[in-house]
Amino acid sequence: QRYVPSTSNTSLIVGVRVRPLLKSEQTKSNRKDIIRVIDGKVVVVLDPDESKDYLDQVQHRTKERRYTFDVAFDFQSTNREVYDMTLRDLVSAVLYGINTTVFAYGATGSGKTYTMVGSPNDPGLMILSLQQVFQDRDRLFRDEEFSVTCTYLEVYNETIYDLLVKNSGPLELREDPEQGVQVAGLKHVPVSTPDDILGLLEDGNRRRKTEATDANSASSRSHAVLEILVKRKPLNHYRVQQLRAKLSLVDLAGSERAAETNNAGQKLRDGASINRSLLALANCINALGKMAAGAKAGANYVPYRNSKLTRLLKDGLSGNSRTAMITTVAAANDQYHHSINTLKYADRAKEI
Ligand code: ADP
Ligand code: MG
Repeated sequence: QRYVPSTSNTSLIVGVRVRPLLKSEQTKSNRKDIIRVIDGKVVVVLDPDESKDYLDQVQHRTKERRYTFDVAFDFQSTNREVYDMTLRDLVSAVLYGINTTVFAYGATGSGKTYTMVGSPNDPGLMILSLQQVFQDRDRLFRDEEFSVTCTYLEVYNETIYDLLVKNSGPLELREDPEQGVQVAGLKHVPVSTPDDILGLLEDGNRRRKTEATDANSASSRSHAVLEILVKRKPLNHYRVQQLRAKLSLVDLAGSERAAETNNAGQKLRDGASINRSLLALANCINALGKMAAGAKAGANYVPYRNSKLTRLLKDGLSGNSRTAMITTVAAANDQYHHSINTLKYADRAKEI
């Protein structure tokens, strides 16, 4: 019952993953789980009662909401299950030259990094993807020239930093007519086994910029982008031509709105520019969807230039490429507003 991405009119898969209440949340007396997954694709957010405002109460309005996605995972799901149902086929396609981009989108604390990076016991999508690249190589392309290189960067406050070096300065984006979008001076690390990557990711994640805010003590305000560049040269090809494609895995900054965090100055500016990237991303995905649905649907222009993140990801979103968005939500009742906002964003991206 694996989700098979359609090759015809859609190139975007939208999945939702619900994370369970953590031990620390369970011990809080008024905390409960308000999200249900039905039929592997419907997400129901129950009315959180206590957060009802006066008007809702007098008018007996329910705050229950439901949304349908390509696939939805409840709190018992593992990273492996999420991977198999969303990414596995896309990663196979990368070895045939198809660029692919995967996003984790959700509020801070909802499980983005858990899903993307994971832990040695439950490796996340970044590691599982790389494992599969090497498994496919061993199974299908053993005698070919084959190379894999990785880069890992963050976009923080509309500025790019290398996560694979200490104290990276700001890096510039360049558009190369041959190679496409490039980050000048970014470190490229050759990888020859999947084990190489976990240490790199851990070091890189420690270098990510995080800053305490009122909303959350370790709110991550940066977008982290792992790019896996695969090149191979099919042997028995009449014209020996190199196939190359990029798999980009993006751990997006927290989706909570700047307006909700009660602080000013630097942090507010961070929030504003994060919203700019996330908004630009939604607009690009939407425009791409309309184009895929046919010229009549509207958009013939995708606004990549509106943020660093969308400029950076342009090649992996345009042309003959595939996209998956894994939306993460926390099931706790006090996360109701974050969860609804996150699901609305994903729902909007899905309208394709
Ligand atoms: P984010 O990156 O979205 O801010 P994290 O991935 O850091 O959130 O997750 C926040 C906390 O929740 C971490 O302690 C993490 O281990 C835990 N967590 C996240 N997703 C799950 C899950 N699916 N199952 C169990 N624990 C999870
Ligand atoms: Mg995180």
